[in-house]
Amino acid sequence: MAIDDWFSASYGEARGKFLVAAKVAGATVQSFPHPLKGPDGGDLAMDMAYLGPQDAERVVVVSSATHGVEGFCGSGCQVGFLETNIHNELPDNMAIMYVHAHNPHGFAHERRVTEDNVDLNRNFVDFDAPLPANVAYDEVHAMLVPTDWDGPAREAADAAIENYIASNGMLAFQAAVVLGQHGHPDGIFYGGQAPTWSRRTIEALAAEHLMGRSHVALIDFHTGLGPRGYGELISVDVPGGPEHLRTVAWYGDEVRTPASGDSASSEVNGTIETGYHDLLVNTESTTIAIEYGTLPVDQVLAALRADNWLYLHGEVTSEMGVKIKREVRAAFYGEDSEWNAQIWERGLDILRKSIKGLAGS
Ligand SMILES: [Zn+2]
Repeated sequence: MAIDDWFSASYGEARGKFLVAAKVAGATVQSFPHPLKGPDGGDLAMDMAYLGPQDAERVVVVSSATHGVEGFCGSGCQVGFLETNIHNELPDNMAIMYVHAHNPHGFAHERRVTEDNVDLNRNFVDFDAPLPANVAYDEVHAMLVPTDWDGPAREAADAAIENYIASNGMLAFQAAVVLGQHGHPDGIFYGGQAPTWSRRTIEALAAEHLMGRSHVALIDFHTGLGPRGYGELISVDVPGGPEHLRTVAWYGDEVRTPASGDSASSEVNGTIETGYHDLLVNTESTTIAIEYGTLPVDQVLAALRADNWLYLHGEVTSEMGVKIKREVRAAFYGEDSEWNAQIWERGLDILRKSIKGLAGS
């Protein structure tokens, strides 16, 4: 067993490894083709592999690439889980569902956002109701997206950010940026004006395969926040509420909740976890994000701003474009044997805790 072999260097390679591992494991596979192509012209899809009784009351869902480029991490773990036959550890009446690439376009193009510049993990809001305002983001938007990336506009934007942080504090700045916003389609952490292809596809998949189950657990893999190689467990549930307490019972007191201020993540609106809760109203769902650290937070934010600038004003194949693409990838993919091993060990431990917790609920 070589852990590095489960991880890939491109979306196409990752998808290929996933589909082969799913077939060898004997999984039922369903693919949802994405209407667009990858940068190499290759096909894109959200792929699902299901193992266990079709009518299982309990299903554990393991998902990757909600944030596109972060999918290198989750995909590597999914391939490892399949190749090591973790499904053989499931008790009776439990199935496992791997969802590969919630956001295949972002994964293939090595961007965090979807094809429409939407942060999928801010897109699960009620678009029939007034969209949540983010007045603090309105204040910092212009600083985040300068018109040049290596000239006076960038320098002025960085100086404005420094001033904002000096006046309001780093936490307030981070909270303003990452909460999610619906007013600036050219901005970062944009939640969109409608459900994206990825959201609609996740909802169709969940309606077909998860509705009517008594219990569902979700582990959604992320990268880019916290100490390098460490996997923070993030619950977006109300601190002290029954869902949050269930995650603590399953995973221990390492569970963090942005709402209580003990997480590397600030509070966010419209997450995939709330999407699952809203959809599976008659199911007890226990959802967690596992967030692995890569680079320091200022470098990650700089990479996100650079990516945003590149697709608005730059040229992906230019020297600057290639440099930015390299920085974005490093911000969301540790891509060395030590990091891969840390990601795998933690992911495996969390999956086993999920199976145990789900069996006892
Ligand atoms: Zn993420």
